[in-house]
Amino acid sequence: MTNKRQVMAGLTSVEAKRLQQQYGKNEFTPQKKDSFIRKVLHIICEPMFLLLIVAAIIYFILGEPRDGAIMLIFVIGIISIDVIQEWKTDKTLNALKDLSAPHITVIRDDKETVIASTDLVPGDLMMIYEGVKIPADGIVVKCNDLCVEESSLTGEAEGVWKITSGNADSSNDYWRKDYCYAGTLVIQGTGTILVDKIGAETEYGKIGMNVAAAPNEPSPLQKQTGKLVKTCAGIAGILFALVGVFTYFNIPDHTFADRVVESILSGITLAMAMIPEEFPVILTVFLSMGAWRLAKKQSLVRKLPAVETLGSVSVLCVDKTGTITMNQMAVQEVWSPDGNENTLIETMGLACESDAYDPMEKAMLAYCDNHGISKEDLFSSELISEYAFTNELKMMGHVWHRKNGIVIAAKGSPERILSICNLSDKDREITEQKVAEMSKEGLRVIAVAMALPESEENIPSSITECRLNLCGLIGLSDPPRESVKSDIAVCSKAGIRVVMITGDNGITASSIARKIGMEHSDNIITGDMLNEMSDNELREAVKSVSIFSRVVPEHKMRIVKAFKENGEIVAMTGDGVNDAPALKYADIGIAMGKRGSEVSREAADLILMDDNFTTIIETVKDGRRIYDNIRKAVGYVFTIHIPIAFTSLLGPILGIAPAALMLLPLHVVLLELLIDPTCSIVLERQPAETDIMERRPRNPKDKLLNTRTLLKSVIQGLVVFAASFGTYYTVLCDDPASATIARAMGLAIIMFSNLFLVQVNSSDYDFAVQSIIRLSKDRVMWAVNIGTLLMLAIILYTPLSGFLKLAPLTAGQFFGSAGIAAVAVFWYEIVKLIKRFRKK
Ligand code: ADP
Ligand code: MG
Repeated sequence: MTNKRQVMAGLTSVEAKRLQQQYGKNEFTPQKKDSFIRKVLHIICEPMFLLLIVAAIIYFILGEPRDGAIMLIFVIGIISIDVIQEWKTDKTLNALKDLSAPHITVIRDDKETVIASTDLVPGDLMMIYEGVKIPADGIVVKCNDLCVEESSLTGEAEGVWKITSGNADSSNDYWRKDYCYAGTLVIQGTGTILVDKIGAETEYGKIGMNVAAAPNEPSPLQKQTGKLVKTCAGIAGILFALVGVFTYFNIPDHTFADRVVESILSGITLAMAMIPEEFPVILTVFLSMGAWRLAKKQSLVRKLPAVETLGSVSVLCVDKTGTITMNQMAVQEVWSPDGNENTLIETMGLACESDAYDPMEKAMLAYCDNHGISKEDLFSSELISEYAFTNELKMMGHVWHRKNGIVIAAKGSPERILSICNLSDKDREITEQKVAEMSKEGLRVIAVAMALPESEENIPSSITECRLNLCGLIGLSDPPRESVKSDIAVCSKAGIRVVMITGDNGITASSIARKIGMEHSDNIITGDMLNEMSDNELREAVKSVSIFSRVVPEHKMRIVKAFKENGEIVAMTGDGVNDAPALKYADIGIAMGKRGSEVSREAADLILMDDNFTTIIETVKDGRRIYDNIRKAVGYVFTIHIPIAFTSLLGPILGIAPAALMLLPLHVVLLELLIDPTCSIVLERQPAETDIMERRPRNPKDKLLNTRTLLKSVIQGLVVFAASFGTYYTVLCDDPASATIARAMGLAIIMFSNLFLVQVNSSDYDFAVQSIIRLSKDRVMWAVNIGTLLMLAIILYTPLSGFLKLAPLTAGQFFGSAGIAAVAVFWYEIVKLIKRFRKK
């Protein structure tokens, strides 16, 4: 007995720690970590770095070790930036993973505690309930109606009713009834399990199921950028050859070896300028940072590509209870046909679970308490049997052995309860009228009924076989969340259709829909109608209907399918065990962090930590913002590479001597050192455009870089090229000996332009000034801007300038360059002005 009590108290945290040291983590396959060296190697193997390293080596061979050394230092600089960035992304993603990892309730230090499932150790007492995916093998110590679906192990779809150990039947089945297995699913009831085996020791671990995790498919965006990078690299290859040949013929007076080396160097300069190795970086950084920002706003992204899909969501299917409404139920109205409200209230209480966790039952018990019927009064007698609630039956009942005899107390949806009640046609009509009346007010109506069987033999085995007497109706209010009305308005502006899905009756649903300002609130499809419809009919119907009532989770799948077949991008919320398939099938499956089941969370792309509708809208908005910023960043990277690439191309073509070229490989690397962080830091932080929720959802087939963006980037880039190369060339032609000054000016113009471009391109409509003001409190943006200027000062005015083959500029030249860059970039503000004018 003492032993047993000890067991029921669970472990202390000290014991748990010791056991974890002994048994390790509860993981099926140990996590592999990429080593630091491997990461660096991975980065170095990128074509960009291979080019850099080849350039550095050539410098060394050329007998210019100083140049080679500087080059190497820059290369190390770029590698460090990349490693830091990757490390940060990894950290962010791992933190997200930990947040959304499965958790389990255990008893530690005599208290119920929620821990990560990986921290379970043998000896732990875990509490399981409907919707939990069991994380370890263990003995059933206590159970109540516990039914577990073990198909992942046994292939048997039928649930297994568990019994406590000690009551084990003598059967010698391999799969025990007094034992729960990792990887199986609780579909009903509750239980307390003494953990016996964890990780690879469990039956599930032995099969090694987990190894077959889904491979990481590249997302549409990844595929697009991959293609973009390949195209650019291809062009770079061709130009590499072209520039090489030009350089070779430019310098007939050099030795053959010199000519070859110079050709390769100028070719490499160009190739480096052309390879947009930033694109994939932008993608991962923006998406993971975006996911991180969302997590802070109570929205946990489980699958990174979901962030990009969010921006194109066009249909939002949401549960009514708890998402649209506050899930704060209160009994508002009671009605009894014979005026006997006391019996009605007491029967209602008897039909509730004694440890109610459903907000509706909690509200009912609170109502009982207010009317002088305590839990003690209700639940102290013996519970003979239970008719469990299922989504299909939509009703439930309890059979109590009370002092004055046996009572069957049942409650549920009026349709179902009335179907098992003895009622005269007249009374039935009156009751149905009352149901309609209460529903119209937006109340959830529950019917309560009872019977007094004479003996235990007369207790029917299922609730549908009961013949009951109606006690009356209960009307419960569950007000919509305050912000929902304005959110719905936002959605309709943003071209997103909101669809309400509920198990409640249609009249209640449409009353709530009206309250929150949904359109066509009288147009309803009920679960029964859905059953009658063919897939084709449903597909037509969903074009105009936005409310689904009396549905069961299985219907959700068909609803998502119908929308998807109409070409919509569907986001769908779900909390129950049976919602998992629909969540998986939807483009964005959204699970609930608070009331959702583990299984639904596992199937979802997104977990809503606060179960709040508003958070979904915020998330969609952020998805649009992130995509916008990715698009802008890609455009910017394109733009800034054009002057670099054209300069490297035109120099040799114009026959400029290799030593006097505007950009030597050194300078290209220097610029790369600047471009990468500017873009991934400043553009990532850009707030949403003001009209972001007034646009239609993005067509998922739209290209990241469409003709318009491409045209804009190319023109912007060409202007900057003309400004920088033009200045350089003018100065050089004036005095062929001043190559270092000409180069310094050309480089300064590109660096200034880089600074300005980010500001100009931060918004498609707002002026740069507005964007700067919006981010003016953002220290990071200032750090980047000041950093750029500081870098410019260092390379011009310190001894470094000699190494970099630059000359210090006079104040006039310096500010002249800034001015030229400003004109070369800020002209685009006029385009915005015209755009605004046209919009009006
Ligand atoms: P929703 O989709 O609004 O959350 P549910 O699927 O939870 O709705 O419930 C559907 C219907 O089932 C309710 O309108 C009610 O009639 C009935 N119902 C739900 N929970 C209970 C319960 N604990 N006891 C009796 N009936 C219930
Ligand atoms: Mg519900």
